[in-house]
Amino acid sequence: MKKRVYLQGFGVDLLSFSQALECACDAVNNMDNIQIITINPEMIEAAKKDKDFANVIKHAELIVPDGVGIKIALALKGYKQERIGGCDLSYELVKLCESNGWRLALLGAKEEVIQTLLSKFKNDFPNLNIVYSHNGYFDNENEILNDISKSNPQVLLCALGAPKQEFLIYRLKEMLQGCVMIGVGGSFDVFSGCTKRAPVIWQKLGLEWLYRVIVQPERIKRIFPTLPIFLFESIIDSIKK
Ligand code: UDP
Repeated sequence: MKKRVYLQGFGVDLLSFSQALECACDAVNNMDNIQIITINPEMIEAAKKDKDFANVIKHAELIVPDGVGIKIALALKGYKQERIGGCDLSYELVKLCESNGWRLALLGAKEEVIQTLLSKFKNDFPNLNIVYSHNGYFDNENEILNDISKSNPQVLLCALGAPKQEFLIYRLKEMLQGCVMIGVGGSFDVFSGCTKRAPVIWQKLGLEWLYRVIVQPERIKRIFPTLPIFLFESIIDSIKK
C-alpha cells in the first residue's frame, strides 16, 4: 500500500492520510506493533548527528511526512505527497479507539495538561477506554515502560517531543503486542486547549511552523538554521538523484 522513498538517506512513506489510518487498523487487528514516526526536517537533521536516533527511524514501520519542509523535499524529487500531521493523525486514532473499543494509553506533557486532556477526552469521547495515562516528566523510565506494558494498550500516544518519544517507543516495541505507537510532540497541549493550534488557513498554506514561531518565539532556534540547511541539502540530494 505504501512506498518508501529516501530523503538524504532517511525513509519517508508515500501514502494518503486514510491509508495511514488503515495501516494502524491492520496493525491492531493483526496484533502487530507499529511505530509511527511523523518525520520533519528537524528530526532528519538531528538524526544525521545521532546514529542511535537514525537507527530508530530506520526501524519504524511507518514514517509519515509531517512538516512542509518534507513536502518540499519530496516535491524536489518529483513526488507529490500530502502532509500527514501528527496532531491530525493522532486525533483520528483517538476516534478509532472510541469506535472500536481499543485500549488507549497516553504519555507525555505537563501534569496539568494531561489532567485537562483526560477530562476533555472523557467529555468528548464518553466511550473511550483510557487504560493508562502519565505526564511526561519522570525519572524512572523502566517503571513507566513496565506500567504501560501491564496496561496492554492497543494505541499509545506519546507526547515527549522528539527524539525522546521515538526512543521510548522503540524500547516499548519489545514489550507490547498489537499496539500502534506514535510520537505526537506538542499535540496534548493542543488537544487539551492549553495551546492554540494555528488557524486552518495557516495550516493549509503550510505555515503552521511560522505560526508556532510567532506564538513561541523561542522555537526560532529549532527552525534556524536547521530548516534552510535541510532545504539546501534537499536540493543537492534531488540533483544527485
Ligand atoms: N515534554 C514532556 N517531557 C519532557 C519534555 C517535553 O512531556 O521531558 C512534552 C512537553 O510538555 C510538550 C511536548 O513534550 O507537551 C513537546 O512539545 P513540542 O512543542 O516541543 O513538540 P513538537 O510538536 O515541536 O514536536
